[in-house]
Amino acid sequence: MTRDEVTAFVALGANLGDAERTLRDALAALGGTPGVRLVQASSLYCTAPIESGGPDYINAVAEVATTLTAPRLLQALQAIEQAAGRERPYRNAPRTLDLDLLLYGSASIDSAELTVPHPRMGERAFVLVPLHQIAPGLVTEAMLKAVSKQAIRRL
Ligand code: ATP
Ligand code: CA
Ligand code: CA
Repeated sequence: MTRDEVTAFVALGANLGDAERTLRDALAALGGTPGVRLVQASSLYCTAPIESGGPDYINAVAEVATTLTAPRLLQALQAIEQAAGRERPYRNAPRTLDLDLLLYGSASIDSAELTVPHPRMGERAFVLVPLHQIAPGLVTEAMLKAVSKQAIRRL
């Protein structure tokens, strides 16, 4: 970590097309973004869709070190989603690629475009389990227990 870098965590999810390939490509694209350094990525996980339909999801969480501001990092994530052909026909629709900013340093952000920490991360095994794998200090056993009924399988 250089002095001007911030540690951020990004959740990746995909459930259309070759989701595994999409996630691996997205990790590479994230690491290839100017001002973003990929520090580590979790394993890929397979989860049944919760509030959306379609095939199972492939999920992962990545840790990055970035010199971008949080809004700029969100823009970069959205550009990677667009490049993967993301469309938003309706809420919770199946998607080729979803990139959510979970944490940006210790920042609390609540703007029209961006809420950090991600407001729903605590409800989701597909976020907490991979996050716990790469950053165990950020996810308590109690947090994991709260989502333990959601089926998730490490690939
Ligand atoms: P959820 O946020 O419940 O996971 P979603 O990922 O399906 O739902 P999207 O359609 O991908 O929702 O995003 C809707 C909007 O959420 C985006 O346009 C973005 O501006 C906003 N948003 C707010 N906070 C965040 C965040 N922390 N990470 C990503 N997008 C965010
Ligand atoms: Ca999401
Ligand atoms: Ca999203």
